[in-house]
Amino acid sequence: MILYKADFVPVGIDQAPHLEISREIVRRFHNLYKKKVFIEPAAKISDIPKLNGLDGRKMSKSYNNAIFLSDTEKEIKKKVQSMLTDPQRARRDDPGEPDVCNLFPFHKLYSSKEMQEEIIPACRTAQIGCGDCKLKLVDSMLEGLRPIMEKRHEVIAKPKEVAEILEEGTKKAAKVANATLEQAKASMKL
Ligand code: SF4
Repeated sequence: MILYKADFVPVGIDQAPHLEISREIVRRFHNLYKKKVFIEPAAKISDIPKLNGLDGRKMSKSYNNAIFLSDTEKEIKKKVQSMLTDPQRARRDDPGEPDVCNLFPFHKLYSSKEMQEEIIPACRTAQIGCGDCKLKLVDSMLEGLRPIMEKRHEVIAKPKEVAEILEEGTKKAAKVANATLEQAKASMKL
């Protein structure tokens, strides 16, 4: 991203250390060649800095614990119902803790503030079970994802148009990257 002189890079908290390496490289380059060519990109981290996978591990295709935009509504429902919640909440009448629950960050992302405020005390007093909480999440999640999933269907139905847009974007990006590269080479007197 430093080739494109981005001020910010939207990342999850897990990617922040990778970004720090780029920032370090930029600082060292500037220090070494006494010329400011790049911008130190700052991490743009959202209010929900991390979403784990269904099983509580890092969400990853290779762990088979992710929810995909290509999933059907039925698949998403099945996945949410299989999600790990608060591991200390073994029985329905055990109180739970949204702050340690693997599922609750998804409510923060998809559900209304009112719903979250309803769930937090109800979970802590065992007035709501994880099954019902998951059903509420399925509804909110599908409501949020539906427009994106519909858009995705529209886009994949036009492969030629997508290829053209990508080609056009690649050309624009290459132009910016080459200009930065030339500046870097000039600073290094290459
Ligand atoms: S009720 Fe909801 S927030 Fe509480 S532990 Fe179960 S899934 Fe998590």
